[in-house]
Amino acid sequence: MCPIDDGVIKYDRSQFEHSDALSSDEFYELERWRNTLYNLKLIGEYLPEKIGYGNLSQRKDYRYLKKIEKPQFIITGTQTGGLPELNGEYYTRVLDFDLSKNQVNVNGPLEASSEALTHAAVYEGNPNINVVFHIHSTPIWKGMIAENYPATAKEIPYGTLDMANAVQEIVKVNDSGIIVMKGHDDGVISFANDLDTAGKLLLQVYDKFGG
Ligand SMILES: [Zn+2]
Repeated sequence: MCPIDDGVIKYDRSQFEHSDALSSDEFYELERWRNTLYNLKLIGEYLPEKIGYGNLSQRKDYRYLKKIEKPQFIITGTQTGGLPELNGEYYTRVLDFDLSKNQVNVNGPLEASSEALTHAAVYEGNPNINVVFHIHSTPIWKGMIAENYPATAKEIPYGTLDMANAVQEIVKVNDSGIIVMKGHDDGVISFANDLDTAGKLLLQVYDKFGG
């Protein structure tokens, strides 16, 4: 399993609805944390392939766009990891999803991150979770595995129904925390009720294990 599989969207993209750029009040809070994580290279791109990694999301109420009971959220767009700053052209909305069918209904200026279904699984798994950050770091990933942090099994690749189920098992009994994805090289997820808690969980492991 190679970390650059992040570049491949595995979900069914047939439900994409194109929209204008998002306004900054929709994403500025997320963007502030993205800047911090980008500067630490926890979000970025693999060279020379130029495959972006890292994606952030925040639960939102988009029922004015699609009336549905499922969680809805804003997420960084696909292949944006290498950009130092994101504007409204690079965030997008997830209005609906179906984990078992591998479908995501995106509304925005571009397709959602290839890992959107993993984010969806977290929100569906626990209504108290409002923020999901996914970063990549070799030392953090190795360190967390060595110290037995909560983990998804190494047989489970990212972006699959198995990953969704494994993540839900962990988040349903925790309102905040951090998970190492053993089957997704360098992949780590933090989740929490609010942005600062999710961000600080990543800064703690960054301080402990290095970037
Ligand atoms: Zn990843």
